[in-house]
Amino acid sequence: MTTAMSSAAANTFLGHCRTLLGDPHVLTLAGEMEPYLTDWRGRFTGSALAVLRPGTAQEVADTVRACAQWRVPIVPQGGKTGLVLGSVPDGSGTAVVLSLARLDRIRHIDAFNRTITVDAGCILQAVQQAAQDQGCLFPLSLAAEGSCTIGGNLATNAGGTAVLRYGNMRELCLGLEVVTPQGELWDGLRALRKDNTGYDLRDLYIGAEGTLGIITGAVLKLYPQPKACITALAALPSPDAALELLKLAQDRCGASLTGFELMSAFCLHLVRTHFPQLPQPFTAAHPQYVLLELSSSESEAHAVALLEQTIGAALERHIIHDAVVASSIAQSQALWQLREHIPLAQAKAGKNIKHDISLPVSVIPSFIAQTAPQLQRAFPGCQLVCFGHMGDGNLHFNVAPPEGIGHEAFLANQAEVNRLVHDAVNHFDGSISAEHGIGALKRDELARYKAPLELALMRAIKQALDPHNLMNPGKIL
Ligand SMILES: Cc1cc2nc3c(=O)[nH]c(=O)nc-3n(C[C@H](O)[C@H](O)[C@H](O)COP(=O)(O)OP(=O)(O)OC[C@H]3O[C@@H](n4cnc5c(N)ncnc54)[C@H](O)[C@@H]3O)c2cc1C
Repeated sequence: MTTAMSSAAANTFLGHCRTLLGDPHVLTLAGEMEPYLTDWRGRFTGSALAVLRPGTAQEVADTVRACAQWRVPIVPQGGKTGLVLGSVPDGSGTAVVLSLARLDRIRHIDAFNRTITVDAGCILQAVQQAAQDQGCLFPLSLAAEGSCTIGGNLATNAGGTAVLRYGNMRELCLGLEVVTPQGELWDGLRALRKDNTGYDLRDLYIGAEGTLGIITGAVLKLYPQPKACITALAALPSPDAALELLKLAQDRCGASLTGFELMSAFCLHLVRTHFPQLPQPFTAAHPQYVLLELSSSESEAHAVALLEQTIGAALERHIIHDAVVASSIAQSQALWQLREHIPLAQAKAGKNIKHDISLPVSVIPSFIAQTAPQLQRAFPGCQLVCFGHMGDGNLHFNVAPPEGIGHEAFLANQAEVNRLVHDAVNHFDGSISAEHGIGALKRDELARYKAPLELALMRAIKQALDPHNLMNPGKIL
């Protein structure tokens, strides 16, 4: 628990920050700070002593040292696209928001080592583009890529659409540069794929959501650009059939299978209702759909042929009812649009109760078969928006109100709905946060489901690195 500084101390602290960063980068007026204080979904607005905008890693270190000296809590902020209230301050007004947005340099690309070294404030899309300009691929891809930053991606260990083939952010990072809560600058920007020299500090900071230090730079892995990515949309009778299709596709395509996304009939119904201009590949409705993506290092023709063979085998074995295989990259992108428009269609339909969960892939059908009827019994008529990165065991398992029930009224059931879903996740040995993190939103849920020993070890790490609890207090723990 931090207490507010006296106004004299606050003025001295802010004066010191102005000396370090220059007046334009120390924001204290309500109107200037407002864009930094409200979360992406507009659910919460906090307040802050100031918004600080350092321009270099050294300035971040100097600023954090000042915060440590005056005991000012720090909320690191990248693109503010996080979905668990991690990058906005609480309502006390005692913390500063430390924006990394000005640290946006691509520092170095080594096409032979297949690495790119970047500032933490670089927008993800800019990093993808810089890699592409050198004929390489930086594979992290998610719908917020035009706004989110590499620092935020690392701090939340972001996943996205290509985890099946390339892994999440943890697997895409080789080295880090971090400012400690005491304001020291640790240069761990090693571009090594093998480095067994003791505790892996890099892994500690990835996924820590800014509670252990501030990431200022990173060395990321690059891959060869595939020659083609081709997509198919399959219609299936059930999640069990989707599981069989996943196994078949992995057996036949190996690492070429780069995406496997499950979507229920209700998801595509929402997309059809709110975006009627998008293609409707099937005339009849089916209970489930799977979007498969295949990447080929050979050619578009090779990718199309492999995908057609896989779909042919699935039809022969009656795993799927029907399928559309894109015959070009343009058609593939049109099919992806159906998947990408599900969150947008949900937003147009109104608020719902969201869950970002992960499960062992093999239990996904049992989880859905057990949990969907439980929800119906507890909240008759509720509508399940179930979709996600099935290949990674990650479902977005969102619960929308029954027809005719107001969204705000239904949200009053949030705690009960969360309990039912998260208890089921726990029963199937899953995780209550697959890729969005814990932030402030799921902190109490974490305390409920993590083993006491695991929580105690996490607290011991936090206490050792940040004894005054100045780094993003109230988040995760
Ligand atoms: C439309 C949309 C789609 C999304 N899709 C996906 C998806 O498919 N997969 C997925 O994994 N996530 C997804 N997300 C959420 C995802 O976590 C964020 O988009 C992204 O990774 C966060 O980056 P950011 O720069 O916006 O971080 P912010 O929101 O600014 O911060 C997120 C957390 O990281 C901390 N932080 C930020 N920068 C630093 C830093 N430099 N050092 C230390 N801590 C820092 C913050 O304090 C906060 O706790 C989506 C979000 C949106 C809005």
